[in-house]
Amino acid sequence: MASPLSLRWGVGRRQSVSQMGERREAEKALRQALVRACHRLAELGLTHGSSGNVSVRRDGGLFITASGASLSTLGEDDVVAMRQDGSWRGAARPSTEWRLHRDLLAARPEIAAVVHTHSTYATALSCLRAPIPPFHYMIAVAGGSDIPCAEYATFGTEALSQAALRALEGRMACLLANHGVVVLGGDLDEAVARAYEVEILAKQYAIVRSIGAPVLLDAEEMDRVARLFAGYGRHRRAEDESDGR
Ligand SMILES: [Zn+2]
Repeated sequence: MASPLSLRWGVGRRQSVSQMGERREAEKALRQALVRACHRLAELGLTHGSSGNVSVRRDGGLFITASGASLSTLGEDDVVAMRQDGSWRGAARPSTEWRLHRDLLAARPEIAAVVHTHSTYATALSCLRAPIPPFHYMIAVAGGSDIPCAEYATFGTEALSQAALRALEGRMACLLANHGVVVLGGDLDEAVARAYEVEILAKQYAIVRSIGAPVLLDAEEMDRVARLFAGYGRHRRAEDESDGR
């Protein structure tokens, strides 16, 4: 799953190719892609201070941002290579939320990237401990007719990882009660784009809640939207293939 992403990001950025094996080269490209994704999340205003962490699938495990690292200034040295059993090597410690990332990547073979942030509006709504309902058709970017909210559990715990896994059944994004938001993606670009969309939806919903009670879209309409989204995805993939990417 990592190879198409690695190839896409790797173009023009290879260093010392002759001295590195193919796998090392791909891993380096993936590490760099993770750094760029973190910078993009910071540019989009989805993180502050050292909040937020990101991971991407690699052979035998994942790359994850280091504990305490600021996503805006994150460098390659702040990316930790972790095995599926949770072990890692090197000076940098993985994010305290490494269980969340590892368990989601293990449980959801169709995804390759996980973004967790404390983005302002999604986090504010997470304190209501309720899903974001279908007040707008774009809710479908989360994979269904709402953005669920996982039960509360202390940060960094196995309980939080399990709560997120349950909330994310059939979904690509969920709120974490009194904490923040988790977003999944087939690759890093997709996860970052979805994280931004979810934060905009959260902002819109917070505004709606402040001025009145929204009229919600019904299940039939959300089913129609889901079918249109699925068709749009196929169209986009066909375009990508015709571009030779
Ligand atoms: Zn957090």
